[in-house]
Amino acid sequence: MSIKAPKGCRDIFEPEVKQIQYLERVYRETAEAYGFMEIRVPTFEQTELFQRGVGETTDIVNKEMYTFMDKGGRSMTLRPEGTAGVVRAYLEHGMANWPSPVKLYYNYHVFRYERPQKGRFREFQQFGMELFGAPGAMGTAEILSFLHSFFQRLGLHDYSLQLNSIGCQDCRPVYNETLRSYLALHREALCPDCQSRLERNPLRCLDCKNPKCQEIMAEAPLPSDCLCASCAEEEAALLEILARLGVSYELNRQLVRGLDYYTGTVFEFVSDELGAQSAFCGGGRYDNLVAELGGAETPAVGFAFGVERLRLELEAKGLLPEGETRPVLQLISFADTADEALILAAKLRQTGLRIETDILGRSFKAQMKQASRLEPQYIAILGVDELAAGQVELKRQADGQTEKIALEALAQFLLEGERRCQN
Ligand code: AMP
Repeated sequence: MSIKAPKGCRDIFEPEVKQIQYLERVYRETAEAYGFMEIRVPTFEQTELFQRGVGETTDIVNKEMYTFMDKGGRSMTLRPEGTAGVVRAYLEHGMANWPSPVKLYYNYHVFRYERPQKGRFREFQQFGMELFGAPGAMGTAEILSFLHSFFQRLGLHDYSLQLNSIGCQDCRPVYNETLRSYLALHREALCPDCQSRLERNPLRCLDCKNPKCQEIMAEAPLPSDCLCASCAEEEAALLEILARLGVSYELNRQLVRGLDYYTGTVFEFVSDELGAQSAFCGGGRYDNLVAELGGAETPAVGFAFGVERLRLELEAKGLLPEGETRPVLQLISFADTADEALILAAKLRQTGLRIETDILGRSFKAQMKQASRLEPQYIAILGVDELAAGQVELKRQADGQTEKIALEALAQFLLEGERRCQN
Protein backbone atom coordinates (compact mmCIF):
# COMPACT_ATOMS: atom_id res chain seq x y z
CA MET A 1 0.00 0.00 0.00
CA SER A 2 1.33 3.45 -0.83
CA ILE A 3 2.21 5.75 2.07
CA LYS A 4 -0.02 8.79 2.51
CA ALA A 5 0.35 11.95 4.61
CA PRO A 6 -0.98 11.41 8.17
CA LYS A 7 -4.70 12.08 8.63
CA GLY A 8 -5.42 15.76 9.21
CA CYS A 9 -2.02 16.83 7.83
CA ARG A 10 -1.57 18.19 4.36
CA ASP A 11 0.85 19.01 1.60
CA ILE A 12 0.59 22.62 0.49
CA PHE A 13 1.45 23.81 -3.00
CA GLU A 14 1.56 27.05 -4.91
CA PRO A 15 -0.45 29.18 -5.34
CA GLU A 16 -1.54 28.55 -1.74
CA VAL A 17 2.06 28.67 -0.52
CA LYS A 18 2.43 32.10 -2.13
CA GLN A 19 -0.73 33.27 -0.36
CA ILE A 20 0.69 32.06 2.98
CA GLN A 21 3.98 33.84 2.23
CA TYR A 22 1.95 37.00 1.58
CA LEU A 23 0.20 36.66 4.98
CA GLU A 24 3.55 36.01 6.66
CA ARG A 25 5.01 39.15 5.09
CA VAL A 26 2.15 41.44 6.08
CA TYR A 27 2.10 39.90 9.55
CA ARG A 28 5.82 40.42 10.05
CA GLU A 29 5.75 43.99 8.75
CA THR A 30 2.81 44.95 10.96
CA ALA A 31 4.34 43.23 14.02
CA GLU A 32 7.59 45.11 13.52
CA ALA A 33 5.75 48.40 13.10
CA TYR A 34 4.31 47.73 16.57
CA GLY A 35 7.78 46.97 17.96
CA PHE A 36 7.34 43.19 18.37
CA MET A 37 10.34 40.89 18.01
CA GLU A 38 10.14 37.41 16.51
CA ILE A 39 10.79 34.43 18.78
CA ARG A 40 11.32 30.81 17.69
CA VAL A 41 11.08 28.07 20.31
CA PRO A 42 11.35 24.27 20.02
CA THR A 43 8.59 22.32 18.30
CA PHE A 44 8.35 19.96 21.28
CA GLU A 45 8.64 20.63 24.97
CA GLN A 46 8.44 18.62 28.17
CA THR A 47 4.85 17.39 28.53
CA GLU A 48 4.61 18.91 31.99
CA LEU A 49 4.86 22.41 30.54
CA PHE A 50 1.54 22.06 28.73
CA GLN A 51 -0.10 20.14 31.58
CA ARG A 52 0.75 22.96 33.98
CA GLY A 53 0.46 25.81 31.49
CA VAL A 54 -2.59 25.00 29.37
CA GLY A 55 -4.38 23.12 32.16
CA GLU A 56 -5.25 19.52 32.97
CA THR A 57 -8.99 20.04 32.48
CA THR A 58 -8.77 21.42 28.95
CA ASP A 59 -9.62 19.35 25.87
CA ILE A 60 -6.22 20.26 24.45
CA VAL A 61 -4.33 18.56 27.29
CA ASN A 62 -6.84 15.79 27.94
CA LYS A 63 -7.56 14.65 24.43
CA GLU A 64 -5.52 16.37 21.79
CA MET A 65 -1.81 16.25 22.57
CA TYR A 66 0.77 14.34 20.58
CA THR A 67 2.81 12.95 23.47
CA PHE A 68 5.67 10.50 23.22
CA MET A 69 8.51 9.10 25.28
CA ASP A 70 11.92 9.98 23.88
CA LYS A 71 14.75 7.48 23.93
CA GLY A 72 15.90 8.86 27.29
CA GLY A 73 12.54 7.99 28.83
CA ARG A 74 11.31 11.60 29.08
CA SER A 75 7.74 12.50 28.19
CA MET A 76 7.68 15.06 25.37
CA THR A 77 4.79 16.76 23.57
CA LEU A 78 4.53 18.45 20.18
CA ARG A 79 3.34 21.96 21.00
CA PRO A 80 -0.47 22.13 20.91
CA GLU A 81 -0.41 25.95 21.24
CA GLY A 82 2.18 28.71 21.29
CA THR A 83 1.92 30.56 24.60
CA ALA A 84 3.30 27.98 27.07
CA GLY A 85 6.58 27.61 25.14
CA VAL A 86 7.05 31.38 24.93
CA VAL A 87 6.41 31.76 28.67
CA ARG A 88 8.93 28.96 29.34
CA ALA A 89 11.49 30.86 27.20
CA TYR A 90 10.61 34.13 28.98
CA LEU A 91 11.47 32.52 32.31
CA GLU A 92 14.47 30.53 31.12
CA HIS A 93 16.15 33.61 29.62
CA GLY A 94 15.30 35.99 32.44
CA MET A 95 13.28 38.26 30.15
CA ALA A 96 11.75 39.85 33.23
CA ASN A 97 15.04 41.78 33.36
CA TRP A 98 14.75 42.98 29.77
CA PRO A 99 13.40 46.48 29.18
CA SER A 100 9.68 46.31 29.74
CA PRO A 101 7.32 45.60 28.04
CA VAL A 102 8.64 42.48 26.32
CA LYS A 103 6.87 42.17 22.96
CA LEU A 104 7.21 38.88 21.10
CA TYR A 105 5.56 37.43 18.01
CA TYR A 106 5.72 33.97 16.45
CA ASN A 107 4.82 31.95 13.41
CA TYR A 108 4.55 28.28 14.41
CA HIS A 109 3.15 24.96 13.39
CA VAL A 110 1.06 23.45 16.17
CA PHE A 111 -0.27 19.91 16.59
CA ARG A 112 -3.60 18.73 17.94
CA TYR A 113 -5.22 15.33 17.71
CA GLU A 114 -8.64 16.63 16.61
CA ARG A 115 -11.27 15.33 14.22
CA PRO A 116 -10.23 16.85 10.88
CA GLN A 117 -12.71 18.91 8.85
CA LYS A 118 -12.68 22.05 6.70
CA GLY A 119 -10.35 24.54 8.42
CA ARG A 120 -9.47 22.04 11.17
CA PHE A 121 -6.25 20.06 10.94
CA ARG A 122 -3.95 18.02 13.14
CA GLU A 123 -0.93 20.06 12.08
CA PHE A 124 -1.68 23.70 11.40
CA GLN A 125 0.07 27.05 11.35
CA GLN A 126 -0.57 29.78 13.89
CA PHE A 127 0.60 33.36 14.10
CA GLY A 128 0.62 34.71 17.62
CA MET A 129 1.91 37.41 19.94
CA GLU A 130 2.71 37.65 23.61
CA LEU A 131 3.08 40.97 25.43
CA PHE A 132 4.63 40.80 28.90
CA GLY A 133 4.73 43.56 31.48
CA ALA A 134 1.87 45.79 30.26
CA PRO A 135 -1.01 45.56 32.72
CA GLY A 136 -4.70 46.21 32.25
CA ALA A 137 -6.51 47.97 29.49
CA MET A 138 -3.45 49.52 27.81
CA GLY A 139 -1.70 46.19 27.16
CA THR A 140 -4.89 44.61 25.82
CA ALA A 141 -5.60 47.69 23.69
CA GLU A 142 -2.12 47.47 22.14
CA ILE A 143 -2.77 43.85 21.09
CA LEU A 144 -6.26 44.57 19.73
CA SER A 145 -4.98 47.67 17.96
CA PHE A 146 -2.34 45.49 16.30
CA LEU A 147 -4.93 42.94 15.14
CA HIS A 148 -7.24 45.65 13.85
CA SER A 149 -4.37 47.21 11.92
CA PHE A 150 -3.23 43.85 10.52
CA PHE A 151 -6.72 42.92 9.32
CA GLN A 152 -7.16 46.38 7.81
CA ARG A 153 -3.92 45.99 5.84
CA LEU A 154 -5.33 42.75 4.45
CA GLY A 155 -8.52 44.57 3.46
CA LEU A 156 -10.55 42.56 5.97
CA HIS A 157 -13.23 44.67 7.67
CA ASP A 158 -16.15 42.32 7.84
CA TYR A 159 -15.76 40.37 11.09
CA SER A 160 -16.91 40.60 14.63
CA LEU A 161 -14.57 41.09 17.58
CA GLN A 162 -16.21 39.44 20.58
CA LEU A 163 -15.05 40.44 24.03
CA ASN A 164 -15.67 39.24 27.54
CA SER A 165 -14.12 39.40 30.97
CA ILE A 166 -13.84 36.09 32.83
CA GLY A 167 -12.55 37.61 36.06
CA CYS A 168 -9.24 37.72 37.91
CA GLN A 169 -7.87 35.65 40.77
CA ASP A 170 -10.02 37.65 43.20
CA CYS A 171 -13.39 37.37 41.51
CA ARG A 172 -13.06 34.12 39.53
CA PRO A 173 -13.31 31.96 42.71
CA VAL A 174 -16.55 33.77 43.59
CA TYR A 175 -17.89 33.02 40.13
CA ASN A 176 -16.71 29.39 40.28
CA GLU A 177 -18.69 28.88 43.49
CA THR A 178 -21.80 30.56 42.04
CA LEU A 179 -21.57 28.41 38.93
CA ARG A 180 -20.92 25.24 40.93
CA SER A 181 -24.04 25.81 43.01
CA TYR A 182 -26.11 26.30 39.85
CA LEU A 183 -24.62 23.26 38.08
CA ALA A 184 -25.06 21.06 41.14
CA LEU A 185 -28.83 21.44 40.60
CA HIS A 186 -28.42 19.92 37.11
CA ARG A 187 -25.63 17.46 37.82
CA GLU A 188 -27.49 14.37 36.54
CA ALA A 189 -28.27 15.99 33.18
CA LEU A 190 -24.66 17.06 32.49
CA CYS A 191 -22.40 15.01 30.24
CA PRO A 192 -19.73 12.93 32.05
CA ASP A 193 -17.02 15.44 31.04
CA CYS A 194 -18.96 18.35 32.58
CA GLN A 195 -19.68 16.34 35.72
CA SER A 196 -15.95 16.09 36.29
CA ARG A 197 -15.37 19.71 35.18
CA LEU A 198 -17.96 20.77 37.76
CA GLU A 199 -15.57 19.78 40.53
CA ARG A 200 -12.25 20.69 38.95
CA ASN A 201 -12.93 23.71 36.72
CA PRO A 202 -16.61 24.61 36.22
CA LEU A 203 -15.79 27.45 33.78
CA ARG A 204 -14.95 24.78 31.18
CA CYS A 205 -18.66 23.78 31.12
CA LEU A 206 -19.40 27.08 29.37
CA ASP A 207 -17.79 25.87 26.15
CA CYS A 208 -19.04 22.27 26.21
CA LYS A 209 -20.40 21.27 22.80
CA ASN A 210 -22.95 18.79 24.17
CA PRO A 211 -26.48 20.15 23.29
CA LYS A 212 -27.97 19.23 26.68
CA CYS A 213 -25.09 20.96 28.53
CA GLN A 214 -25.48 23.98 26.26
CA GLU A 215 -29.16 24.16 27.19
CA ILE A 216 -28.25 24.14 30.87
CA MET A 217 -25.46 26.64 30.38
CA ALA A 218 -27.78 29.04 28.53
CA GLU A 219 -29.44 29.74 31.92
CA ALA A 220 -26.23 29.64 33.98
CA PRO A 221 -24.80 32.63 35.84
CA LEU A 222 -22.05 34.30 33.80
CA PRO A 223 -18.56 35.48 34.78
CA SER A 224 -19.63 39.07 34.11
CA ASP A 225 -22.23 38.74 36.92
CA CYS A 226 -19.43 38.37 39.47
CA LEU A 227 -16.70 40.77 38.29
CA CYS A 228 -14.85 42.67 40.99
CA ALA A 229 -14.57 46.46 40.80
CA SER A 230 -11.08 46.33 39.36
CA CYS A 231 -12.06 43.92 36.50
CA ALA A 232 -15.15 45.99 35.75
CA GLU A 233 -13.08 49.20 35.66
CA GLU A 234 -10.46 47.58 33.43
CA GLU A 235 -13.13 46.47 31.01
CA ALA A 236 -14.75 49.92 30.92
CA ALA A 237 -11.33 51.53 30.25
CA LEU A 238 -10.61 49.04 27.45
CA LEU A 239 -13.96 49.66 25.76
CA GLU A 240 -13.30 53.39 25.84
CA ILE A 241 -9.85 53.06 24.23
CA LEU A 242 -11.23 50.70 21.59
CA ALA A 243 -13.94 53.18 20.70
CA ARG A 244 -11.30 55.90 20.32
CA LEU A 245 -9.15 53.58 18.18
CA GLY A 246 -12.15 52.96 15.92
CA VAL A 247 -12.16 49.24 16.77
CA SER A 248 -15.72 47.89 16.89
CA TYR A 249 -16.58 45.03 19.24
CA GLU A 250 -19.48 43.08 20.65
CA LEU A 251 -19.67 41.98 24.27
CA ASN A 252 -20.27 38.22 24.33
CA ARG A 253 -20.89 37.28 27.93
CA GLN A 254 -20.82 33.53 27.13
CA LEU A 255 -17.32 33.70 25.69
CA VAL A 256 -14.67 31.68 27.50
CA ARG A 257 -11.57 30.26 25.89
CA GLY A 258 -10.49 26.63 25.67
CA LEU A 259 -7.27 27.16 27.66
CA ASP A 260 -7.08 27.55 31.42
CA TYR A 261 -4.48 30.27 31.65
CA TYR A 262 -6.77 33.16 30.70
CA THR A 263 -7.81 35.77 33.26
CA GLY A 264 -9.75 39.01 32.82
CA THR A 265 -10.31 40.09 29.23
CA VAL A 266 -10.68 37.37 26.58
CA PHE A 267 -11.57 37.86 22.92
CA GLU A 268 -12.27 36.11 19.65
CA PHE A 269 -12.54 37.31 16.08
CA VAL A 270 -15.44 35.59 14.38
CA SER A 271 -16.49 35.39 10.77
CA ASP A 272 -19.70 34.18 9.19
CA GLU A 273 -17.80 32.74 6.19
CA LEU A 274 -16.20 29.82 8.01
CA GLY A 275 -19.19 27.73 9.09
CA ALA A 276 -18.59 25.66 12.21
CA GLN A 277 -15.00 26.90 12.54
CA SER A 278 -16.13 30.51 12.73
CA ALA A 279 -13.47 31.78 15.17
CA PHE A 280 -10.30 32.55 13.29
CA CYS A 281 -8.41 34.34 16.05
CA GLY A 282 -8.53 34.12 19.83
CA GLY A 283 -6.67 35.45 22.81
CA GLY A 284 -6.81 37.35 26.05
CA ARG A 285 -4.99 38.25 29.24
CA TYR A 286 -3.14 35.65 31.27
CA ASP A 287 -1.84 37.59 34.23
CA ASN A 288 -1.14 34.49 36.40
CA LEU A 289 0.61 32.14 33.98
CA VAL A 290 4.17 33.41 34.42
CA ALA A 291 3.83 33.04 38.21
CA GLU A 292 2.18 29.62 37.86
CA LEU A 293 5.18 28.44 35.86
CA GLY A 294 7.60 29.67 38.52
CA GLY A 295 8.20 33.38 37.75
CA ALA A 296 7.15 36.58 39.45
CA GLU A 297 3.63 37.99 39.02
CA THR A 298 3.71 39.36 35.46
CA PRO A 299 0.86 40.95 33.55
CA ALA A 300 0.58 39.37 30.11
CA VAL A 301 -1.72 39.29 27.12
CA GLY A 302 -1.59 37.49 23.78
CA PHE A 303 -3.46 35.86 20.94
CA ALA A 304 -3.07 33.24 18.25
CA PHE A 305 -4.82 32.69 14.99
CA GLY A 306 -4.98 29.90 12.49
CA VAL A 307 -3.30 30.96 9.27
CA GLU A 308 -5.43 28.54 7.23
CA ARG A 309 -8.67 29.92 8.66
CA LEU A 310 -7.56 33.45 7.92
CA ARG A 311 -6.59 32.40 4.39
CA LEU A 312 -10.00 30.77 3.83
CA GLU A 313 -11.71 33.88 5.14
CA LEU A 314 -9.73 36.14 2.80
CA GLU A 315 -10.27 33.76 -0.11
CA ALA A 316 -14.04 33.71 0.42
CA LYS A 317 -13.97 37.52 0.29
CA GLY A 318 -11.72 37.70 -2.78
CA LEU A 319 -8.97 39.45 -0.79
CA LEU A 320 -5.99 37.27 -1.67
CA PRO A 321 -3.38 38.20 -4.24
CA GLU A 322 -3.26 35.80 -7.18
CA GLY A 323 -0.18 34.11 -5.80
CA GLU A 324 1.43 33.35 -9.14
CA THR A 325 4.71 34.78 -10.33
CA ARG A 326 5.28 34.83 -14.06
CA PRO A 327 8.88 34.63 -15.32
CA VAL A 328 10.26 37.93 -16.55
CA LEU A 329 12.16 36.23 -19.34
CA GLN A 330 12.21 32.83 -21.00
CA LEU A 331 15.33 32.00 -22.99
CA ILE A 332 14.68 29.69 -25.94
CA SER A 333 17.80 27.70 -26.82
CA PHE A 334 18.97 24.95 -29.19
CA ALA A 335 21.07 21.83 -28.70
CA ASP A 336 24.33 23.73 -29.30
CA THR A 337 23.41 26.80 -27.23
CA ALA A 338 21.66 25.17 -24.24
CA ASP A 339 24.81 25.40 -22.06
CA GLU A 340 25.28 29.08 -22.89
CA ALA A 341 21.60 29.73 -22.13
CA LEU A 342 21.98 28.05 -18.74
CA ILE A 343 25.05 30.20 -17.93
CA LEU A 344 23.35 33.40 -19.13
CA ALA A 345 20.24 32.54 -17.08
CA ALA A 346 22.40 32.03 -13.96
CA LYS A 347 23.92 35.48 -14.46
CA LEU A 348 20.55 37.16 -15.03
CA ARG A 349 19.05 35.40 -11.99
CA GLN A 350 21.53 37.23 -9.77
CA THR A 351 19.23 40.24 -10.20
CA GLY A 352 16.59 38.23 -8.31
CA LEU A 353 14.32 38.17 -11.35
CA ARG A 354 12.70 34.93 -12.42
CA ILE A 355 14.32 33.65 -15.64
CA GLU A 356 13.37 30.36 -17.32
CA THR A 357 15.54 28.30 -19.63
CA ASP A 358 15.26 24.77 -20.97
CA ILE A 359 17.24 22.03 -19.20
CA LEU A 360 15.52 19.05 -20.82
CA GLY A 361 16.84 19.40 -24.37
CA ARG A 362 13.35 20.16 -25.63
CA SER A 363 12.57 21.09 -29.22
CA PHE A 364 11.96 24.71 -30.22
CA LYS A 365 8.24 23.92 -30.54
CA ALA A 366 8.09 22.33 -27.08
CA GLN A 367 9.88 25.34 -25.55
CA MET A 368 7.40 27.73 -27.19
CA LYS A 369 4.57 25.59 -25.83
CA GLN A 370 6.06 25.88 -22.35
CA ALA A 371 6.26 29.66 -22.83
CA SER A 372 2.55 29.82 -23.56
CA ARG A 373 1.94 28.00 -20.26
CA LEU A 374 4.37 30.08 -18.13
CA GLU A 375 3.45 33.40 -19.77
CA PRO A 376 6.83 35.17 -19.42
CA GLN A 377 6.88 38.92 -19.97
CA TYR A 378 9.65 38.52 -22.58
CA ILE A 379 10.96 35.76 -24.81
CA ALA A 380 14.48 35.74 -26.28
CA ILE A 381 15.77 33.24 -28.79
CA LEU A 382 19.40 32.36 -28.15
CA GLY A 383 20.86 30.67 -31.21
CA VAL A 384 24.47 30.49 -32.51
CA ASP A 385 23.99 33.70 -34.51
CA GLU A 386 22.81 35.64 -31.45
CA LEU A 387 25.72 34.31 -29.40
CA ALA A 388 28.18 35.28 -32.10
CA ALA A 389 26.67 38.78 -32.33
CA GLY A 390 26.57 39.13 -28.53
CA GLN A 391 22.97 40.27 -28.57
CA VAL A 392 19.42 38.89 -28.49
CA GLU A 393 16.09 40.05 -29.78
CA LEU A 394 13.68 40.43 -26.88
CA LYS A 395 10.03 40.00 -27.69
CA ARG A 396 7.58 41.61 -25.29
CA GLN A 397 4.72 39.15 -25.10
CA ALA A 398 2.04 41.71 -24.19
CA ASP A 399 2.19 43.54 -27.54
CA GLY A 400 4.69 41.56 -29.67
CA GLN A 401 7.17 44.49 -29.79
CA THR A 402 10.77 43.46 -30.32
CA GLU A 403 14.03 45.11 -29.34
CA LYS A 404 17.69 44.14 -29.84
CA ILE A 405 19.70 44.15 -26.60
CA ALA A 406 23.40 43.38 -26.03
CA LEU A 407 23.87 40.35 -23.78
CA GLU A 408 25.83 42.32 -21.20
CA ALA A 409 23.09 44.97 -21.02
CA LEU A 410 20.28 42.45 -20.59
CA ALA A 411 20.24 42.27 -16.78
CA GLN A 412 20.07 46.06 -16.49
CA PHE A 413 17.32 46.27 -19.11
CA LEU A 414 15.15 43.67 -17.35
CA LEU A 415 15.68 45.25 -13.95
CA GLU A 416 14.69 48.69 -15.19
CA GLY A 417 11.63 47.20 -16.88
CA GLU A 418 10.70 45.55 -13.58
CA ARG A 419 11.10 48.87 -11.72
CA ARG A 420 8.89 50.61 -14.30
CA CYS A 421 6.24 47.91 -13.75
CA GLN A 422 6.34 48.41 -9.99
CA ASN A 423 5.98 52.20 -10.18
P1 AMP B 1 -6.82 28.31 20.19
O1 AMP B 1 -5.34 28.12 20.45
O2 AMP B 1 -7.62 27.04 20.37
O3 AMP B 1 -7.39 29.49 20.83
O4 AMP B 1 -6.91 28.59 18.62
C1 AMP B 1 -6.48 29.78 18.07
C2 AMP B 1 -6.81 29.77 16.60
O5 AMP B 1 -6.11 28.68 15.97
C3 AMP B 1 -8.26 29.48 16.28
O6 AMP B 1 -9.01 30.66 16.30
C4 AMP B 1 -8.16 28.92 14.88
O7 AMP B 1 -8.02 29.95 13.93
C5 AMP B 1 -6.88 28.15 14.92
N1 AMP B 1 -7.10 26.70 15.13
C6 AMP B 1 -7.37 26.07 16.30
N2 AMP B 1 -7.46 24.75 16.11
C7 AMP B 1 -7.24 24.52 14.80
C8 AMP B 1 -7.15 23.34 13.97
N3 AMP B 1 -7.31 22.12 14.48
N4 AMP B 1 -6.90 23.50 12.65
C9 AMP B 1 -6.69 24.73 12.13
N5 AMP B 1 -6.74 25.89 12.85
C10 AMP B 1 -7.01 25.78 14.17
